[in-house]
Amino acid sequence: MKKTGKCVVISGPSGSGKTTLSNYLISISKLNLNFSISATTRECRKGESDGKNYYFLSLNDFKTKAKNNEFIETEEVYPNVFYGTLKSEIERIWGIGNNILFDVDVYGGLNIKKTYSESTISIFIDSPNKMTLNERLKSRGSESESSLKVRLKKAEIELQKSIQFDYIIMNKNLEEAKKKLYDIVFEFLNNE
Ligand code: 5GP
Repeated sequence: MKKTGKCVVISGPSGSGKTTLSNYLISISKLNLNFSISATTRECRKGESDGKNYYFLSLNDFKTKAKNNEFIETEEVYPNVFYGTLKSEIERIWGIGNNILFDVDVYGGLNIKKTYSESTISIFIDSPNKMTLNERLKSRGSESESSLKVRLKKAEIELQKSIQFDYIIMNKNLEEAKKKLYDIVFEFLNNE
């Protein structure tokens, strides 16, 4: 695959605010960042749409694409729920000369960093404590009690991997986190 742009990987526990921070970066047009729309087998949530937030696939379709080598990485992020980055998505964004922003789980993030190491910056968004994480997930209102437990358990595991990222940003105060993130990403994208 011909490489033209740079990659910004944002990972962190569900509820850490990484999607808010990713959307913030996307909104800054001079960064030329396009969101890599992942494929997933999870249900489409209220307010989401196919081809905008995710490509929502059946388990069968996902597995067929995986077998046909159409992904650069896939993860079973939660039991029996798959997510993956499609090669076609990378080609689409590089094809128009833009940089790519990935909002993926820690394993996906570390894999992307390994694949495109020179042109990738990996940033882990941390949440000050588990209580905050719990509150953020609850306030989102999209999780059942059991899904909440699974996400909190996964957050613990993800935290252990955070040291492998290029940067860790503590999202205690959203405005401060935005500023730190912007400074890091701006410098990375503007350095050869
Ligand atoms: P959610 O279901 O809350 O949208 O996402 C659950 C988790 O899956 C998040 O940590 C999100 O970053 C991660 N995720 C989304 N897309 C991908 C992907 O393509 N690959 C991997 N490895 N993780 C993903």
